[in-house]
Amino acid sequence: MNYAKKSLGQNFLTDKNIIRKIVNLTDIKNKNIIEIGPGKGALTKEILAKKPKSLILIEKDTKLAFNLRKKYLDNKLVKIYNEDILKFELEKKAKTINKIFGNLPYNISSQILVKILKFKKWPPNFDDLIFMFQKELAERIISRFPSKKYGRLSILSGFRLKIINKFFISPNCFSPKPKVNSMIIHFQSRKNSQYNIKNINSLEKITNILFSNKRKMINKNIKKILTQEKIKILNLKTNLRPTDLSPETYYKITEFFEKN
Ligand code: SAM
Repeated sequence: MNYAKKSLGQNFLTDKNIIRKIVNLTDIKNKNIIEIGPGKGALTKEILAKKPKSLILIEKDTKLAFNLRKKYLDNKLVKIYNEDILKFELEKKAKTINKIFGNLPYNISSQILVKILKFKKWPPNFDDLIFMFQKELAERIISRFPSKKYGRLSILSGFRLKIINKFFISPNCFSPKPKVNSMIIHFQSRKNSQYNIKNINSLEKITNILFSNKRKMINKNIKKILTQEKIKILNLKTNLRPTDLSPETYYKITEFFEKN
């Protein structure tokens, strides 16, 4: 079946070794699993072979969801939602989930990651998050300070997730072949933080304000966040650019901001 919708980022994994390598990143036996965008079920089949306790599939494409439903009609462990992951009550459904997998549709993969990063309750129940991204986005997520690709996404994801493993995947492993390279990132949720940030939305807000112009000094924008007095207490140099501040500085600014 050559069915593939570009608008839904449908590039299906066909390389058996890569499929096995992804699923073998973590222990699945007896665990509750979610898979986002199962498509034609390449990862699904391998996940089920590892005997999970349950498997929730969330697929927006009605035809693909219908086919999966037909395929797993007799399998009581599998529950299929024909829904848009961006509208899906993921935090609620993930309450008893141990692992989340997804070879994500590229056009919305950062939105999916941010949706998880913004879960209200943290640490969440899940330990492992195994996602495939377009290589360029993955590099922004994993970039460390200081580096060229360091930015909002690395600060936000670094606050809640740690990176356990990562590897590139060539376009040859898919059908149809994507024009770009991909990367798998295996994250684990951080259980505690030394920073007392009450609401992750505050950290998102601060990074949005300060990174609104990556090349400009922070002196104007920082005044929208902190009083002169707090800038002094934090010993912040306001002639720096947003990329010159470490993640820890962003966390501290957020703590101060929340105390306002
Ligand atoms: N997991 C399969 C694989 O590895 O072969 C398919 C991966 S494909 C890159 C992305 C999948 O996500 C497609 O099946 C697509 O229909 C589905 N998808 C796209 N947008 C979605 C959305 N908003 N919510 C849920 N699924 C979506």
